Amino acid sequence: MSPERTTTNPAMPTNGVVFLMYHELEIPGRPLCQTEAGYSRYVVQEANFRSQVKWLQEAGWRSLSVSEALASEQPNGSKSNAVAVTFDDGCESDLLSAAPILSGASYHATFYVTVGYLGRRGYLTPPQLRELGALGFEIGCHSMTHAYLTDLDERGLQREIREAKAELEAEAAQARKVVQASVSDLANQVVRAVLPAAAGGSR
Ligand SMILES: [Zn+2]
Repeated sequence: MSPERTTTNPAMPTNGVVFLMYHELEIPGRPLCQTEAGYSRYVVQEANFRSQVKWLQEAGWRSLSVSEALASEQPNGSKSNAVAVTFDDGCESDLLSAAPILSGASYHATFYVTVGYLGRRGYLTPPQLRELGALGFEIGCHSMTHAYLTDLDERGLQREIREAKAELEAEAAQARKVVQASVSDLANQVVRAVLPAAAGGSR
């Protein structure tokens, strides 16, 4: 049994869990949501994602949702050899490509949706979001407009975090309490706004 890895960030007690963060998957013949270099460098080819999941599965990695990864108690007692797969922004490829590949491997994942992008070209529509949730995947909130949270005042944070989460819960009918935040990168002001939102309405 390999020793569990430790983290130096006390805000993220994720001992042993590897987080793999994805954005849009590129499906052959299908235009991307955005084309700027700053965006496309995060895009992974669908075929590559399929190989990565296959590799993880064959190497014996089991998957956790982010909520499971952050929970102190694990059903199987250990977080070693566990991976939490996440997708940011709420692209349509979440449902069209990632979901079937993950389901085929019986892998869980967490999809962080930018609420204000719902229904835009290339992004999930509200019915597609509900379909993704109905497949058993965890849905998280990735803000309202994809703003840089550290640039915002208190009112802006309310909108991007609390109101976005409430709207996502209404749209998804089952959005989870998790919020997209690499907490170590955020200013104290943002953490204060995030934590109460994360604590409320859990399910
Ligand atoms: Zn994003």
